[in-house]
Amino acid sequence: MVNSYKKIQKRDLLDFINDLMKEYIVYGPVENKGPVDADDEFMFKKIKSAEEVSLRHAPSMIPPKKYFLPNKEALFEIQDSNIKELKEEEKFVIFGVHACDINSFLILDKIFAEGPFNDPYYERRRENSIIIGVNSEPTEYCFSKSMEKKKAETGFDLFLTEIPDENEYIVTIGSEIGEKLASENKFRSVEKGFAEKVIEKSLEWEEEITVETQDLPKITHQSFGDEDIWGELGERCLGCGNCTMVCPCCNCFDIKDEGSLESPKASRNRTWNACTLLEFAEVSGGNFRRSIKSRYRNWFYDKFNIFPKEIDEFGCVGCGRCIRSCPVDIDPREIIRELRDKYGE
Ligand code: SF4
Ligand code: SF4
Repeated sequence: MVNSYKKIQKRDLLDFINDLMKEYIVYGPVENKGPVDADDEFMFKKIKSAEEVSLRHAPSMIPPKKYFLPNKEALFEIQDSNIKELKEEEKFVIFGVHACDINSFLILDKIFAEGPFNDPYYERRRENSIIIGVNSEPTEYCFSKSMEKKKAETGFDLFLTEIPDENEYIVTIGSEIGEKLASENKFRSVEKGFAEKVIEKSLEWEEEITVETQDLPKITHQSFGDEDIWGELGERCLGCGNCTMVCPCCNCFDIKDEGSLESPKASRNRTWNACTLLEFAEVSGGNFRRSIKSRYRNWFYDKFNIFPKEIDEFGCVGCGRCIRSCPVDIDPREIIRELRDKYGE
């Protein structure tokens, strides 16, 4: 039954992941051993063996939204006058997704799958995916509790919550697919009251810095012309775009056609873009957001004023990646607190 519970031992979970790999492509959080020196960094990657997966990982450097909205993808090819749409149809599993990232998928759904202009590429990948979540500990940057995104209520097929000192996980079943996956005998029955207590306990952590979101759209709007706040941030910000590229809720992209005069073949490609970068606002005849101040303010304003107006959600789940990735320590939690001190009632 959907929204029921089972439990699984850790060693059986590893077998379960290995079994999943026989049927699906499985992506999971793997410790980053790349050329960049990044202690404690994890990347979602295609896994070859269950042992690679880290069940207790800090938020990945790049969020798992990349499996629904890749940083670069070819949309279609044109040869002579024939258009060939490039479709990915393979079923895949994203294993080990934190609750805040699951909640970011639900925000992206409102934009790409539930709005007036649905994106078939995004929708297809969402339909082909199986999401298996895992509970997490907060990092010093996390404020998902403040954003009310620390718990995933929906948006997963299975969700694992570690039972302290037991080498076992409570498994919340969130869909019919999840129910089917958990029907194997590796998954054993568990008493509902016990499962709910373990889950409740796993959510009891506190954040280092909390924020209040009440009236945030209003005070963000009131601050728009505040030179003290945005002018100072514009001086500090480098306009590097890191905060935008690592954000699970940012979703702007650019479309470019690629072709050659020597070939009858061309393609249309989509790549991520970032409103914090100078090129983003370049149009014929000039750039309408030349100053770093206007670009950073736009990024913030979009998340905390425009998103709520358009989809009734903030464009932020409080994962803290933007804070961790900012080379000059700009921290939206501090900005929200400053806005509240100055404009809050
Ligand atoms: S704005 Fe920052 S904290 Fe919020 S979701 Fe994006 S990266 Fe995470
Ligand atoms: S990561 Fe920091 S410096 Fe770079 S654009 Fe974002 S706020 Fe500015």
